[in-house]
Amino acid sequence: MSSLEKLQSLTDQMHLEPSEDADCPAMPAKHKNDVMVGTAALPNGRQIKLLKTLLTSACERNCYYCPFRAGRDFRRATFTPDEMAETFTAINRAGAAEGVFLSSGIIRGGISSQDKLIDTAEILRHKYRFNGYIHLKIMPGAERAQVERAMQLANRVSINLEAPNTSRLEKLAPRKQFLDELIQPLRWVEEIRRSQPQHLGWNGRWPSSVTQFVVGAVGESDLELLETTEKTYRQLRLQRAYFSAFHPIEGTPLENLPATPLVRQNRLYEASFLLRDYGFSVEELPFDSHGNLPLNLDPKLAWAEMYLNEKPVELNHASRQELMRVPGIGAKGAAAILTARQQNKLQELEDLKRLGINSSKAAPFILLNGKKPAHQLSLI
Ligand code: SF4
Repeated sequence: MSSLEKLQSLTDQMHLEPSEDADCPAMPAKHKNDVMVGTAALPNGRQIKLLKTLLTSACERNCYYCPFRAGRDFRRATFTPDEMAETFTAINRAGAAEGVFLSSGIIRGGISSQDKLIDTAEILRHKYRFNGYIHLKIMPGAERAQVERAMQLANRVSINLEAPNTSRLEKLAPRKQFLDELIQPLRWVEEIRRSQPQHLGWNGRWPSSVTQFVVGAVGESDLELLETTEKTYRQLRLQRAYFSAFHPIEGTPLENLPATPLVRQNRLYEASFLLRDYGFSVEELPFDSHGNLPLNLDPKLAWAEMYLNEKPVELNHASRQELMRVPGIGAKGAAAILTARQQNKLQELEDLKRLGINSSKAAPFILLNGKKPAHQLSLI
């Protein structure tokens, strides 16, 4: 098999994940040579093409949802660190991918697999002088020194929690240990960022960290997922939690379960942004009696219908945080209102439209100079 064929066989089996940092989750596109290329957003907002791949599709673990689980019948492929670094460098120099997201199946334990990922990044950085974007996966069971070395080489590191707590993880990935193997490395990432100088990180800054959950395979509620998400944002300073709607894969123990509707995944993203960027706490989110979000409404709108119909927000006096709770007003809209009202009072919906705000979405929940603005009720 050529390197490209090996890469193709690896990425063909990979579960499609949302593009990194895309606000609306989108499936990665495939490059014309049929290897998996998605996108990632750099801190300056520029989108880059990202090769998402594994060092090996062999794995000794047996996570119930995973196409790479031990014993599943398909053709496995493995790269040495040198081969992977050389292959990515060729792809990068051909202009097909500007960055790489490197993960791996686990063979001979997490420590050994982590070493290979680190070796690949070392070769890319030092032999091939690759200064671009590297996202390195931290393997379950990796050691603290390995986490630190990965953080000196990568722009981003990640550990997938997969489930919101120990009992749910046991039903999804029985050989992964939630606290010791998954949460602990995320703690180390944050400890290292807090205690060691930035210049030790790649290009003078420590990497961001992210995680991912599988949604809907083991009966977990949105409340469970979002409670853990909130903790990872507040206590471990994760940049983002990704949510991946479960879809059954043939030849796995969960093959007969129904797929999770994508709309649930999207509602979880919306709610997680409310926790991360809009000052909401998990207790405030509009869960039903089973701990799930409504599927038919975005959670900010559902919250506003419960609380702002009776107590609309006066846009001429509200704080930034209060403004951002109004449907149709985000961080940019709130900043525009705060600036505009220093000059003149906001009087009508036209004033909001001029600021680029979705005034029809906001109208039912606001006061302008003490009055409820007249607005057309949506018939849909
Ligand atoms: S450890 Fe990773 S690659 Fe292996 S079965 Fe579990 S999820 Fe799949």
